[in-house]
Amino acid sequence: MTDNKVLMQVRDLSVEYKTRLGMVSAVDHVSFDIYEGEILGLVGESGCGKSTLGKALMRMIQPPGRIIGGELIFNGKDIMTYDEKQMQDFRGRKASMIFQDPMTSLNPVQRVDEHLIEAIQVHFPEISKEEALQRASELIERLGIQSNRMSSYPHQLSGGMRQRVMVALGLILNANLIIADEATTSLDVIVEAKLADEFRDIRREFGVTMLVITHNIALVAELSDRLAVMYAGHMVEMGDVYKVFDDPLHPYTQGLLNSVPNIQLDEGKELYKMPGEPPNLTHPPSGCRFHPRCPMAMAICSRIEPDLIEVQPGRHVKCWLYQDHPEKSEPTLEVSK
Ligand code: SF4
Repeated sequence: MTDNKVLMQVRDLSVEYKTRLGMVSAVDHVSFDIYEGEILGLVGESGCGKSTLGKALMRMIQPPGRIIGGELIFNGKDIMTYDEKQMQDFRGRKASMIFQDPMTSLNPVQRVDEHLIEAIQVHFPEISKEEALQRASELIERLGIQSNRMSSYPHQLSGGMRQRVMVALGLILNANLIIADEATTSLDVIVEAKLADEFRDIRREFGVTMLVITHNIALVAELSDRLAVMYAGHMVEMGDVYKVFDDPLHPYTQGLLNSVPNIQLDEGKELYKMPGEPPNLTHPPSGCRFHPRCPMAMAICSRIEPDLIEVQPGRHVKCWLYQDHPEKSEPTLEVSK
């Protein structure tokens, strides 16, 4: 997949939120690439910054949050330089976002056909209503919804159908990138698994690129080509999904995967529980943000932040275990329980 062309380059992206307790460093100097045609899974604990990162890629961070730096290079152009009109065009024709609860994105008093026709005509006013309706009906059928549901209101559809309508709103304008933020979380497990399968079909049929943000490790294992792991606002590991699952490099990824319920766990054995708690991002830990919880922490880890580096072709990790530094020879740190 990393042989494919890069669709989006994220460089040094930082987002912070102003709170009563101080500035929260939600995404801190994050850099990575999204390749054309891939499904990239993005995982991490609640509050690690993964949803903030997804919204930042669309420049949809609302006050009191703001993007404080970085470049978002999409097909060679830095969308951080776009004005609001250019961004409105970008959001729809180039990239679209699907959220956990489509009811908050869909207008409850607009029918499915009205949503889709409006989306087409806002971006392509030259297309007639009849032609827009024809395109919308064809697409909705390809996504497994009978065209007679075009006249339904959002509340008359099941959760899975509403998510498919959101996907249709992305595809109807031929968006290159769809960002799905916990898009399957509110669905029951059977519908969730079915929709995940459909995401793969959609990628194949429409050649679309997807960033799937989720806390559901099993879902990304099934769905993604590559996996990205975030911890406390940092991207800590990225790589081919099978390689990361087979041989996680970062101690946080190791803990995360070991704590996933597993039917192969021997009877009587307990699931791994990561020590400590995620940090308060108004005052993030110095050095490696994972150091207070890391069983492998060394003295250098609390003082100096490692870079995210490529340690094997296509595999990136942000950890001193894989980098040299003159101060690395000092002893291991105590981990908080
Ligand atoms: Fe652990 Fe140090 Fe690696 Fe951070 S840099 S994950 S503290 S070993």
